[in-house]
Amino acid sequence: MTKPVNDKIARTGVMLVLSSPSGAGKSTLSEMLLRDNPGLALSVSITTRQPREGEQDGVHYYFRTVEGFKASCDGGELLEWAEVFGNYYGTPAAPVAERVSQGKDILFDIDWQGAKQVHDKLGDDLVQVFILPPSHAALRQRLTGRGQDSAEIIDGRMAKAAAEISHWPDYDYVIVNDDLETAYRELSAILKAEQLKRKRRPGLAGFVKADLGA
Ligand code: 5GP
Repeated sequence: MTKPVNDKIARTGVMLVLSSPSGAGKSTLSEMLLRDNPGLALSVSITTRQPREGEQDGVHYYFRTVEGFKASCDGGELLEWAEVFGNYYGTPAAPVAERVSQGKDILFDIDWQGAKQVHDKLGDDLVQVFILPPSHAALRQRLTGRGQDSAEIIDGRMAKAAAEISHWPDYDYVIVNDDLETAYRELSAILKAEQLKRKRRPGLAGFVKADLGA
C-alpha cells in the first residue's frame, strides 16, 4: 500500500501531556492511544516507587533507587522531576528531543508539577490535556477499588484526587471521562488536530511548491 500523501509531508512530533487524578481513566486512555498510533511512544519515566504486579523495567518505568534517581537528576538527565505521593518520578530528556526531531510523537503521563516544568521549558510546543472524572460519586466508586480498603484510606485518595484536579485550569484541553469511547474519540481528535497544525509541518512549503506548483 502506498503511503498517504499527508504522511509524506515532513513534520515535527507532537509532545502530548496527559494528567488526571488517579481513577479518571488516564491509563486506559493512554493505552488505547498508544495502541492505535504506532508513531506515538510513551515517555518512560524513572521512578523510585516499587514495581506493581505486571510492570516491567524499561517498559512502564525505569525503576531506580533513591541514589540512582538523584544521580540522574544531578547529572542533568531529566527534563522534569517531582515527588508524587512520597516517591520520585522524572522524565529522561534525551529520548524526547530525539523523537520529536524525527517527526514522531511522544506521550507524557505525568502529574501537574511535571507538566508545569515541561511547559516552562518547551512553551506552547507542548500540548497539555487534563482528564476529569464525571462526578464526585463516580470518582469515589473508582477509588474504592475492590472494596477492601477502609473509609479513611479512600478519603485520603479522594483528597489527593481533589488536589490534582485543582490544576485543570493550567491545561490546553479538558476531557470529562463520562463514557470511555467518547473520551477516547475526543483525545484522538486532539492528537490529530495537533499533528495537522501548520507550525509543526515544515514540509508543507516544499510540498505545495513541488507537487501543487503553487
Ligand atoms: P503511578 O505511581 O500510579 O504510576 O503514578 C503516580 C503519578 O505520578 C501519576 O499521576 C503519574 O502521572 C505521575 N508520574 C509518572 N511519571 C512521572 C514523571 O516522570 N514525572 C512526574 N512529574 N509525574 C509522573
